Amino acid sequence: MKILVADDDRISRMLMERMLQQSGYEVVTAEDGLQAAAELEKPGGPRLALLDWMMPGLDGPGLCRAIRSKQDDAYIYIMLLTSRESSADIVKGLEAGADDYLTKPCNSAELRARLHTGRRILQLEDKLVEAREEMRFKATHDPLTSLWDRGAILSLLRSELSRARRERSPVSILLCDVDHFKKINDVHGHHAGDLVLEEVATRLMDAVRTHDAVGRYGGEEFLIVLGGCGHAHLQERAEQVRKSIYSSPFTIDQGAITVSLSLGAITVDLWEKSAPIELLLKQVDMALYQAKASGRNRVVYAEMAAVAADNVRREVSSLPVNLPLSRLIEA
Ligand code: GH3
Ligand code: MG
Ligand code: MG
Repeated sequence: MKILVADDDRISRMLMERMLQQSGYEVVTAEDGLQAAAELEKPGGPRLALLDWMMPGLDGPGLCRAIRSKQDDAYIYIMLLTSRESSADIVKGLEAGADDYLTKPCNSAELRARLHTGRRILQLEDKLVEAREEMRFKATHDPLTSLWDRGAILSLLRSELSRARRERSPVSILLCDVDHFKKINDVHGHHAGDLVLEEVATRLMDAVRTHDAVGRYGGEEFLIVLGGCGHAHLQERAEQVRKSIYSSPFTIDQGAITVSLSLGAITVDLWEKSAPIELLLKQVDMALYQAKASGRNRVVYAEMAAVAADNVRREVSSLPVNLPLSRLIEA
């Protein structure tokens, strides 16, 4: 395990380095506080740090405070080394954010034992972070396909629409539904159906760019948010998604089967971005319905003109009915 030894005294540094190397540590050294901070900031840098109290530039307690002020980084276990022994100093060091305190010259057995405690605390910290990440993932992802779940993909769509409005860039949405999926369940069983859904999810992820978002919208329905994709590219992207499912058969226990998708597609451009999300989803759902009705395994593009007209209709219908025409035009 990597450990940082920061000490401006060359002899103390070398003695400490040798002692730690004999205990199996990979030692990184620094001559002052600023150099130590730079070593700790490096990706994959040490997570155990032995800091001398007195150092030029940035002293031990100052470095402790700097490390603790960065809340996003992985936890660093800090031990302060000093010849100061008063309890006021100990309190000052611990208040600065040190985990432990050792007086110089230190006994090698005691140092080893205290570092062992540090490693145990780092392991507990890592387990806690892992558990938190897992909970975060589970709260936003579908357990079968590991795609974003319905709530998460809708909230991603909302933020993508706001971003697009700010940056005046387009957004496209694809609503995909597996064709005759019930038949796959009925003929091959629910487990085969699950395998197909998992494979659909993998293929959809492969068919889009890394910054596009794919979510499981419902049972066998998937919602894809294509940030920055406008009218000019939508057709190509939607066809790519459709073909990713249809072009090669799916392998299930019973053999190979052909699966297809029907898609509703929509692009939100410029002023249309003020269209409410419910309206966009309704439009794209209607397009998907048309794709089903006109033979499946195809993409139908929702007319944004229809969204615009619908928007105007909603605005007009929200006006008082008995308003004179002149006032209606003003409004
Ligand atoms: P269409 O082409 O019109 O979309 O027909 P369809 O059969 O795909 O659609 P329908 O809505 O009739 O059936 C969808 C089926 O998907 C019904 C439901 O039991 C099944 N389903 C939903 N979620 C899951 C799942 O997680 N696993 C499996 N195996 N089946 C699921
Ligand atoms: Mg279906
Ligand atoms: Mg369906």
